[in-house]
Amino acid sequence: MNPRHHPSADVLAAYAAGTHEPGFGLVVAAHLETCSECRARVRAFEAASGAALEDIPQTDVGADALAKVMARLDQPSAEAQPDTRPLLERLPLGPRKWVAPGVWVAAVETPHAPDNRVYLLSVAPGMPTARHEHSGAEFCTVLKGAFRDESGLYSAGDFAATDEDVDHQPVVIGDEECVCLFATEGRLKARGVLGRLAFAYADV
Ligand SMILES: [Zn+2]
Repeated sequence: MNPRHHPSADVLAAYAAGTHEPGFGLVVAAHLETCSECRARVRAFEAASGAALEDIPQTDVGADALAKVMARLDQPSAEAQPDTRPLLERLPLGPRKWVAPGVWVAAVETPHAPDNRVYLLSVAPGMPTARHEHSGAEFCTVLKGAFRDESGLYSAGDFAATDEDVDHQPVVIGDEECVCLFATEGRLKARGVLGRLAFAYADV
């Protein structure tokens, strides 16, 4: 099933130009893995920016987009190697930290992007998450399971970008845990005691 929530044109254009912070580019790449529509849009942006110089070969950016971003994160000079394992197995994860019953977080190790906070968050079905606001931009791609918030239903492959104007309370939908890949540049401001506990992951 194709994702229903996509990055904006501005986000895709910045991705094509390589101007995102690497951690944010990683979250976009995770969406592109599942979304042929956005891969085509990125190709169009790349072609438009390079058309004046030469014909750009029509390559499929999706197949190796993630590997390229990962290479930028960890080994800037390394050749990107195609890797067909599921994304969850390819991410360089730190140890899982349980921050509340049914809720764990694991940092994605980004030694070359220390200012990006990149992490996986897994929330079990039926666990409420905290209503929270954002103090900076946040990108999110759902890797497994589904959640719903005031803006709709998000399942595997769906992308969400939020900024400090957003105040929302996601709820996990279905009977499996919801695992999301996040990049954030600011701290979350959770409301209430449970909120502060659940969102201790902001310190990963
Ligand atoms: Zn898309």
